[in-house]
Amino acid sequence: MRKVNKNVFKTLSVRMYALMPVTTCLLCGSADLKLILDLGLHPLADTFLKKEELSEPEEKYPLQVLLCGDCGHTMTGFIVPPQKRYQAHDYSYDSQNSEVSVQHFEDMAADVIAREGVGAEDLVVDIGSSVGTLLAAFRAQSGSKILGVEPSHNIAALATQNGVPTINDFWSKVAVDEVVKQGGAKIITATNAFNHIGDMSAFMQDVERALVSGGLPAQAGAFVAEVPYMLHLVQKLAFDTIYLEHMSYFAIKPLARFFKNLGMTITDIQENEYMGGSIRITVKKGGEETPLVKTYIAREEAAGLFVAGTYQRMMQNIQQFKLNLMAELTAAKHSGGTVIGIGAATKGNTLLHYCGIDTSLLEFITDTSSLKIGKYTPGSHIPIVSDDAITDAVTHALILPWNIAPFLKEKLGPKYPKIAFIVPHM
Ligand SMILES: [Zn+2]
Repeated sequence: MRKVNKNVFKTLSVRMYALMPVTTCLLCGSADLKLILDLGLHPLADTFLKKEELSEPEEKYPLQVLLCGDCGHTMTGFIVPPQKRYQAHDYSYDSQNSEVSVQHFEDMAADVIAREGVGAEDLVVDIGSSVGTLLAAFRAQSGSKILGVEPSHNIAALATQNGVPTINDFWSKVAVDEVVKQGGAKIITATNAFNHIGDMSAFMQDVERALVSGGLPAQAGAFVAEVPYMLHLVQKLAFDTIYLEHMSYFAIKPLARFFKNLGMTITDIQENEYMGGSIRITVKKGGEETPLVKTYIAREEAAGLFVAGTYQRMMQNIQQFKLNLMAELTAAKHSGGTVIGIGAATKGNTLLHYCGIDTSLLEFITDTSSLKIGKYTPGSHIPIVSDDAITDAVTHALILPWNIAPFLKEKLGPKYPKIAFIVPHM
């Protein structure tokens, strides 16, 4: 009998989950795609490493953004299989990781309850529900029934521990069947999850199937998605919110056309500062389109969002950003300073990796999440420690989650008055 090398199976499973180039637009299906941003090879940004993983080869993939010449959608150039993104390692993002996040989700629940009228008999489903922060807020504020859908094993287990009923799966047939079995959802939310989806049409068909209320047709229910807004990304030069876990970078113009083709309508748009600038859109089967759609499209066109030249300039600005930041950090080191990072945010990993920042510049990065402390940043391999590790020797601190910089400065500034904070983008 022939002896089979076990590594063969390892190789096969890697091939099964191979990297897929995006050849047609994720929203409209057009093949008219143009490469507009190229940030080089990156590891998965949300996969923080354990010490023993540091000596293993790290998989890196091209981090590119494409623009659809047809509908104007911007999207990743390559899709890393979701099993690799969320299930091959412990996932490190949880929705409870900062006071800012918890407050944000409480406000979001209040907003949706007030607008859509959620009551005790209604079911609220959250796709990519993390540890259940948003759903717990819905239940506390409206008495509604709740159900989470979360693909990461370790995160879904934490949600269940928190008392939030959670299906440990992707938004799949199994999950949708369970929602239908429970009578359908009045509200389906997806916060920073809609932009992680490869097959958008299949995702929305499943949303539509799950959206019913008390036996009423889907018109009665609403899909509420919150995602980073492409206009903010471009205007703030927030290239670090580009990472391999993100499939899409959304603007209203291509989304409005996408939903229209599915017989759905954007009935509300709100903007907020979460994740450095997000939009919250409410979508219904049928329903009346909000006049805000036209207002947003006009803004997006005026900002050049659908023109390749805008991104040529953006790429030059990203390169200049890198040179400026490296000069600042290097000068701090040369003057005998000790430089650290604050907040091991996912977006920080794109910034660190693109700029080539490692432990020669940052001693360590502090964080409050128990899912990250003791681990290392992907690619740059900088150790993550708790705030207690900050000593009097520290002279400079680079704030990686720049979107919550005011909150972090307020928290750490009085305690460490000698530290000069460096905040990208603000
Ligand atoms: Zn398109």
